[in-house]
Amino acid sequence: MTSNIDSQNPLMGQMMYQPLMISSILVHAKNQHGNTEIVSRRTEGDIHRYTYADCELRARKVAQAISKLGLKPGERVGTIAWNGYRHLELYYGISGSGLVCHTINPRLFEEQISYIINHAQDRAIFFDITFLSIVRKIYNECPSVKHWICMIDADKLPESNSPKILCYENLLDEENGNFEWPNFDENTASALCYTSGTTGKPKGVLYSHRSTLLHTYASALPDSLNIASVDTVMPVVPMFHVNAWGIPYSCPITGAKIVFPGEKLDGASLYELLESEGVTMSAGVPTVWLGLLEYIRSQKLKFTTFNKAIVGGSVCPPAMMNDFNALGVKITHAWGMTELSPLGTAASLKASDLKKSEAQKKLILQKQGRSIYGIEMKIIDANGETLPRDGKSYGDLLVKGHWVISNYYRSDLSPLDKGWFPTGDVATIDQDGNMQITDRSKDVIKSGGEWISSIEIESIASAFPDISICACISIPHPKWGERPLLIVVKKLSVTKKDDLLKKEILSFFDGKMPKWSIPDDVVFIDQMPLTATGKLYKMKIRELFNGYQFKSNHS
Ligand code: AMP
Repeated sequence: MTSNIDSQNPLMGQMMYQPLMISSILVHAKNQHGNTEIVSRRTEGDIHRYTYADCELRARKVAQAISKLGLKPGERVGTIAWNGYRHLELYYGISGSGLVCHTINPRLFEEQISYIINHAQDRAIFFDITFLSIVRKIYNECPSVKHWICMIDADKLPESNSPKILCYENLLDEENGNFEWPNFDENTASALCYTSGTTGKPKGVLYSHRSTLLHTYASALPDSLNIASVDTVMPVVPMFHVNAWGIPYSCPITGAKIVFPGEKLDGASLYELLESEGVTMSAGVPTVWLGLLEYIRSQKLKFTTFNKAIVGGSVCPPAMMNDFNALGVKITHAWGMTELSPLGTAASLKASDLKKSEAQKKLILQKQGRSIYGIEMKIIDANGETLPRDGKSYGDLLVKGHWVISNYYRSDLSPLDKGWFPTGDVATIDQDGNMQITDRSKDVIKSGGEWISSIEIESIASAFPDISICACISIPHPKWGERPLLIVVKKLSVTKKDDLLKKEILSFFDGKMPKWSIPDDVVFIDQMPLTATGKLYKMKIRELFNGYQFKSNHS
């Protein structure tokens, strides 16, 4: 199609241009919501509270302090920290002064952490005291790091010469905050996060100020995370992985109060904060909610203010959605990736859905949802042909948009396929645009000519009352190529014999899926291998069952 626009002499709009700067988010929060609280459970053991205005001032002091340490714009500064106010100050102080805030996942193996630090060439690392033992083990392997800074009150700073450890609070005490946030190119790198690297070396995703600001706008929308100034938001999803789904940015633009849970993520500790701080919404991966729900059930508790939860990172089992709904908490199922900053889709009902039956509405909300404005998506078949949006055809999910990766950090190989990013997920999209992940492409079970979704099996099994957590993997099969095996961790209270339980679980599938896709067997283990981001660690689970053979192979 040819355009009538005169490219030599276009009529330009006459509106102000301001680069989209991350610092402007916190300045807005200071100006419009200066008294709104940020509450943190600290590693010191107490509850810390201050305001957006306090946070903005201390972020300026961070900017001054890192400049005094000799760190220059463009350089990477690492953080190994829980969700807390100091981490938030670093998000803004580092990015806002033109450096790159590199969040590091402490749950990775030490070799992976030092690999990541070396790959990023971090110049300084800010860390919580919890991670001192990691720092002591890796500092010799990380020659690029010139400063190790512990985020703790000065009187609690551990003595250490190797490495020499600076105190965050002392650094800030030396500054007066007389610092003006600079403006620069909005495409400048702002933050860096490495993928979990469960199937190879972790890869760095380098976000920009522009991509982050656009993601922030879109993620706060009503059909996305739906955050408002009346909300009190507790991000359980960690700030050390994909920017806690952007919540450290979307709360300040909306003026919502933030409650940071720190290191205590067990059911009892989360419940205590939800209640004591009047939390209205929270966000996290399903495994973290399992702990909270088990605690609520065992103690027969209720929520008084908590009413919406964002669940993503892996599929939200329908049973979990029902359990939350019964407690008055509305679930928004969201899908995303490190490579997408991370939000891609969120599930919500359209006006035309409201007249549907409750069962139909549930099915819509169990999907991963519609793409947020700014993200386009499509599914393709093995030949690269786009598949119809009929809710049945499934294929590889591809995305593009303002906050989607174009290249991994320090890699020359483009991950893109004709301008689209292949997510590695297999999905369907229905006529209303609702996307549903059926599997990771490498987790699909190829049985005969059919594909069986491991996610569907896990979702059904999760509703079985005696199952705490489960995973489905494919096992090689002489006749069918692959068949599904269900691996189960029982709830602690279960006393039934394994054989009986196995029979009950297998018959629980009857009528819920075609006979040929029901698992061939169920095995019980004590602990489920999880990744550093709390997802089923399928690679490790497959390793555990390497060589496994079904007792009676399906004929
Ligand atoms: P990460 O980059 O570590 O955040 O992992 C991204 C991957 O997590 C996606 O490609 C999906 O496979 C998976 N994922 C994220 N959200 C969901 C969800 N709601 N349902 C199913 N899988 C999800």
